[in-house]
Amino acid sequence: MTVIRQQDFIDSIADALQFISYYHPQDFIQAMAQAYEKEQSPAAKDAIAQILTNSRLCAEGKRPICQDTGIVVAFVRVGMNVRWDDATMDIVEMVNAGVRKGYLNPDNVLRASIVSDPAGKRKNTGDNTPAVVHVELVQGDQVDVRIAAKGGGSENKAAMEMLNPNDDIVEWVLQRVQKMGAGWCPPGMLGIGIGGTAEKAVLLAKEALMEDIDMPTLKMRGAQNPLEALRIELYDKINALGIGAQGLGGLTTVMDVKILDYPTHAASKPVAIIPNCAATRHIHFELNGSGVASFPPPNPEDYPDVTWHASAEARKVNLDTITRAEIATWQPGDTILLSGKLLTGRDAAHKRICDMLARGEKLPEGVDFNGRFIYYVGPVDPVRDEVTGPAGPTTATRMDSFTETMLAETGLMGMVGKAERGDTAIAAIQKHQSVYLIAVGGAAYLVAKAIRSAKVVAFADLGMEAIYEFEVENMPVTVAVNAEGKSIHRIGPAAWRERIRIMPRI
Ligand code: SF4
Repeated sequence: MTVIRQQDFIDSIADALQFISYYHPQDFIQAMAQAYEKEQSPAAKDAIAQILTNSRLCAEGKRPICQDTGIVVAFVRVGMNVRWDDATMDIVEMVNAGVRKGYLNPDNVLRASIVSDPAGKRKNTGDNTPAVVHVELVQGDQVDVRIAAKGGGSENKAAMEMLNPNDDIVEWVLQRVQKMGAGWCPPGMLGIGIGGTAEKAVLLAKEALMEDIDMPTLKMRGAQNPLEALRIELYDKINALGIGAQGLGGLTTVMDVKILDYPTHAASKPVAIIPNCAATRHIHFELNGSGVASFPPPNPEDYPDVTWHASAEARKVNLDTITRAEIATWQPGDTILLSGKLLTGRDAAHKRICDMLARGEKLPEGVDFNGRFIYYVGPVDPVRDEVTGPAGPTTATRMDSFTETMLAETGLMGMVGKAERGDTAIAAIQKHQSVYLIAVGGAAYLVAKAIRSAKVVAFADLGMEAIYEFEVENMPVTVAVNAEGKSIHRIGPAAWRERIRIMPRI
């Protein structure tokens, strides 16, 4: 009989969450490095270079890979021969105690992103609890934990459908991936669950994401069963869509496709898909009664020798003196280095601003968007001498329904976020001769290095969703939708899909 101390379990969870906040899994780094080597699209290659550079900086600085430090998901398998020493909590409470300790660590404070009362007040719980915990009682004498910190942008793109038994899974997945857009911060990996019941398929898809990337090995040795053949077929066909890094168009959209299956009812074919993003964070450990789990750090040489530099063609722009005439000359795909002041705001701030405007109220002092740019971001709190913690972009699509009001009623000139814009937002951008720029999702620490000062100017009660004023210097962005309403997320993937179609074989 193995005896596990409650505190060892809690400390192991906390240490695991700290570890994965700043160290990518090594299989993920290797796959990203291979994607970088292979990439021929300059915009996608630049984005992957930012992701790899960010990854190394985070490992060195022990700071989060992304400003969204995720919702914690744990799969805990408890051996039936395990006894807990003086446990005063159940397993879920212990996981939550570990999450609390890990996320509030003063040396590397992680962003608290969890809101309770999700259909109502959506109040931040303050310590990123509760986690989503799946507990299984299994044979054996140890505790096996697989734990992940899942980003909201990628989780939002999950989908599940009850297909008919004769429906084509490949066709369904390809349709879903095209609908996912770029909000899940590709390149990444896909978890697919097939079979069981509705909830089982979704769980299988999530569990599949806990596996290591092994697609290069699989492709080299060839499929040995139908599921492996399906993985290879999906991997090739998804990458042939040309979506590419950040949806800019390119050769690598997924670095692996993982599939788990389970027997199902003769009348059903449940299928679920969940993507994992550029900030893929998960780890596996076991407790056998010998104490707290250890997590050996990677070696510096495990990281590829890739350092992002702004391209020579990048245009330097001063946000404090910019004019509408200047932004009217920008084309989709242009790279820009922003300097000067910009305001921030994301979901909750937009809702509050638009509610105030609808009631005819004045916006708070310091919140004057006239002639200015807004950055969709919810940064991590700073530690030590930092101005701000990691501060990468959040998905702009969620702000689409507010865009017309923001442009028409506040005088806002431009927006910075990530992923594509929908038809309504693009129409508003064109109508108001505005512009939408993207920063690289998953390069949050690198982006934060461009922020010279940060202060909260309004809505402090919203926590990480407050409105800040940032002063930035050479912050790298790409024109995604220009004043004519042309979108790089439409042009780029379409062009690369065609190029891939006529390529001999990639
Ligand atoms: S990389 Fe993108 S999807 Fe992933 S956590 Fe960061 S912002 Fe969210």
